[in-house]
Amino acid sequence: MVHGEALKVSASTYVTFKKCPAQAGARLQGIYGPESRQSFLGILAHRIFSRHLTSGSIPSDDFVQACREEIGGSSLNNKMTDLEMRPSALAGVIEEVRGLYERFTRLPSEGFEGSEHNLEATVAEGVDLMGTVDAVYREDLGGFRLVDWKTGELTDPEDQLLFYALLWLLDSGEMPAYVEAVSVRTGERYRTVPSSADAGRVAAEIAELVDLLRNAWATGADLPRTGGPWCRYCPLLEDCEEGKSVGALLD
Ligand code: SF4
Repeated sequence: MVHGEALKVSASTYVTFKKCPAQAGARLQGIYGPESRQSFLGILAHRIFSRHLTSGSIPSDDFVQACREEIGGSSLNNKMTDLEMRPSALAGVIEEVRGLYERFTRLPSEGFEGSEHNLEATVAEGVDLMGTVDAVYREDLGGFRLVDWKTGELTDPEDQLLFYALLWLLDSGEMPAYVEAVSVRTGERYRTVPSSADAGRVAAEIAELVDLLRNAWATGADLPRTGGPWCRYCPLLEDCEEGKSVGALLD
């Protein structure tokens, strides 16, 4: 890999890079797009799922208070301010999360080992990979299943899942038995058995990401821009002709 600035590459950075390198570069420099209600709702739902898995089921009468505690004890408090969310809008979000939580509690929990499992690995000088797996389950036939909960539709989760598989391999020395994404909203499920070829491909793409970004930052060259639905929340959209033309098509 090219030497240069220290980089912490998360699953979302990697997934974003595959869609648009320029947006991934902006995120790595701390430039993020606007907050959205959907993102706020998704983070709150994940915190409630984790609370359920680690502390037991949440009685219906305590649900609003549990959500308020999760918001108050996390970065969601600031996001709420950024979104200028009124109490009535927050009540609507909490009721939507309640609906997701009720679906979530119907999912099987056999083999549960832990939630919000943090993984980190140094793969080269100044290059760290990091990710948080929503839930880890022990499989009856051996090994572990890594699960990512989605609160929206299941749109092409494979890159994110294989990034987690690589991190798990680097951390434990073993490939997970399965990686899986489950939409709590729609019931869609995607599961795959990761192979060493998959891990090798992701590692090669991460090396490409590091080289491209470090070279661009060292020389001042522009990073490639690739438009798509992801432009909507891109911090570069205002000055990006590619993004604007995609926006015009989608509107
Ligand atoms: S607006 Fe779209 S094309 Fe432009 S940098 Fe952002 S994601 Fe890439």
